[in-house]
Amino acid sequence: MEKKISRRKMIRSVSGLTLGAGISTLPLNGSFYPAITGERQKVPARINVKVSPPGPNSLALLEEVYNHVGRSNLAGLYGVGLKNGDGSYIEDLDGNVYIDCLTSASSTLLGYSRDDIAKVYYESALNIQQTCFPYTPNKEGLEFAKKLSRIAPGNHPKKVLMGVSGSDSVCGAIEAARKYTGRMGVISFKFAYHGSTGLSQAASGFRSLNEGIYDMNDKNFVRVPFPVTSEEKKRVLKNIESVLAFGKTAAVLVEIIQGDGGKLVPPEGFYPRLKELLDKYGVLLIDDEIQSGMGRTGRWWASDHEGIVPDIIVAGKGLSAGYAPVSAIIGREEVLDALVPAAHVFTYTGHGPSVAAASKTIDIIENENLIENSKVTGGYLLNGLKMAEKYEDVVVEARGRGFMIGIEIDVSKDPFASRVFAFRCLEKGVYFGYIGDKQQVIRVLPPVNMNRSECDEVIRVVHETAEEMHYNRVPAETIEKVKRFAVGW
Ligand code: PLP
Repeated sequence: MEKKISRRKMIRSVSGLTLGAGISTLPLNGSFYPAITGERQKVPARINVKVSPPGPNSLALLEEVYNHVGRSNLAGLYGVGLKNGDGSYIEDLDGNVYIDCLTSASSTLLGYSRDDIAKVYYESALNIQQTCFPYTPNKEGLEFAKKLSRIAPGNHPKKVLMGVSGSDSVCGAIEAARKYTGRMGVISFKFAYHGSTGLSQAASGFRSLNEGIYDMNDKNFVRVPFPVTSEEKKRVLKNIESVLAFGKTAAVLVEIIQGDGGKLVPPEGFYPRLKELLDKYGVLLIDDEIQSGMGRTGRWWASDHEGIVPDIIVAGKGLSAGYAPVSAIIGREEVLDALVPAAHVFTYTGHGPSVAAASKTIDIIENENLIENSKVTGGYLLNGLKMAEKYEDVVVEARGRGFMIGIEIDVSKDPFASRVFAFRCLEKGVYFGYIGDKQQVIRVLPPVNMNRSECDEVIRVVHETAEEMHYNRVPAETIEKVKRFAVGW
């Protein structure tokens, strides 16, 4: 009979080395995974859709999920379940391989199967899996905080508060702003998404998510439209100033490029003028970079493009490249320290393995020059996608910065048009999301290390799909499937 061996013993026998403390003697060259798990299944680096998605295995999973998991845990997309990832490619439960342009809602920032990050996480977990940082700080948390302060803009003294989700960090940022200013008011933007807990949800601009839970007439939350044209810019700034004049506002909370609202890029000069106004009234700027940060737009932070220094930056999602739930607030020291001790603690604050993975993510972005890749290769992708605008009746606009891109689809005649577009791309091997107030925008958020030939594949599929839709050649069964499976908010 095969003898069962413990994981630690297995590592010893595979590495062929005697381990002292931890696993620092694991083979450093080559793949880390086989040392832990035996063979890791590789995903072939090419599109291969052999079973019409969602295939039978995905559907079986979905049915069970519907039976056992509450619906508010689901936002829905295509009903596809994933089992593997490698580089920019993901494989579903039925063996289909897609190029990933959703990155788990912008979290798997560096693609898949990053042995280097998994190894850092594993080593830290083997040493001690959890210390509860608020009681017993750890070196991993300290190192992470120092790195974040270094990459955040501004020369002022900064501090960091760690969290576990974007939502809790947005809540913490609002709490700090309120404590520091002694005011309660928060101005945010219609169709902004800031999270799913307390203050972050209350400040979000999707009414349907808040109705029946938060007081929709709460005067502490004012929402203004997100400006796109220069006319709107003037109007919105005037609107904001009229609210600031009441002297009740603690902060303006904004996604510099509005993500879930439809990848909206603001008009030039909006943020510098906004910051001037805020400084005049002593109001803080909270910059929600949960989706746009960590190099996605071709700078560390989307606000770096605007020549402004926010008082608080909130980061999450790609912060640990999807290896652990980690978020952070980086802000002016005096603002964050307005919160009293224990006012922003979670059991898993500064969870060692998680923040070690996040620190490693920052190193990789720097060492592999990925911010430049976002700028240059992301720009290449956007240019290629923009050419699909020639099918005017299908593609309204492709827009964005770096690898944060949206393709707006004309839904004026068919409210399902964008979902049909996304679903058809899925059938052709590109995994997008869709988002926006009418779900009209295809969400293009690839890993920031995607290369040009992968971008060419994405561009090809988008052009083919736009052409098919233009000539009404989308198969009837695709449209049928969209009605069954493609859901959104
Ligand atoms: N802020 C932005 C801009 C987001 O896109 C999201 C998530 O989609 C959040 C906040 C909430 O982050 P989390 O889902 O990690 O709580």
